[in-house]
Amino acid sequence: MTTMHLHYWPIIIFVSLCIFLKLNELTKKHRNYKKRKLDHSYYTNVVINLFISLGLFALISCNYGFSNHLTPKLQNIIFYFMTTDALYYWIHRAIHKTPALKQFFHFTHHEAFHLVPMDVYYISHQEHILYLMIIFTLPLLFVHPNFMEYVAILLISLWHACYTHSEIKDNFPIPLFINSKYHKKHHKIGGGNYSIFFNIWDEYMGSNIKSNTPPPQQPQQPPPQQPQQPQPKNKKQTKIKKQKKQ
Ligand SMILES: [Zn+2]
Ligand SMILES: [Zn+2]
Repeated sequence: MTTMHLHYWPIIIFVSLCIFLKLNELTKKHRNYKKRKLDHSYYTNVVINLFISLGLFALISCNYGFSNHLTPKLQNIIFYFMTTDALYYWIHRAIHKTPALKQFFHFTHHEAFHLVPMDVYYISHQEHILYLMIIFTLPLLFVHPNFMEYVAILLISLWHACYTHSEIKDNFPIPLFINSKYHKKHHKIGGGNYSIFFNIWDEYMGSNIKSNTPPPQQPQQPPPQQPQQPQPKNKKQTKIKKQKKQ
């Protein structure tokens, strides 16, 4: 096992910064930006998750035995996405069905109701590490991509995740990938649409959110109480007071 070379860190910092600045630009231009009050803790969470992603990527790049074939194979990329999609579906669904797991892993990501592109990285650190290890690293045991295929998979995943968190009406440019509306329903209605890339598992397991499902009722605020007007003093009482004064 080779150690990660120190010269990777400036590259990690530079790439993290570029991704952050691009996400920040897209988020600030987004129509939902004003509806969200993104504070210091939101940005800190995003930046730490970005560093974790890039750190793990550098670790894998140095230590994983990528395949030697030169020309990228489409079947490797498709098989990788299908493995990731299956793993993501079952883990994501189990987390949603188990309140304690949802609270521990997934609560942060579901704070977002009006989505913006930067929400891709607005997840708890424990959930981010879990997904990176199990979903984006475990398939490397079954699929043996070359380095270019692996980079292509990660870039498409990031691009698609930004798209699904942008509330865009158009379909994703790559066919068969779930659209933005699909993931928006997962955030706004809930109870289904657990897949990340394709609609295979939701369709097979019957966990698609139907188009006519109404969003859950927001807890109704009680009407604001009118400040009570001071009661006009009883004439008798004022008379008694006057007599007392005398
Ligand atoms: Zn979820
Ligand atoms: Zn989401």
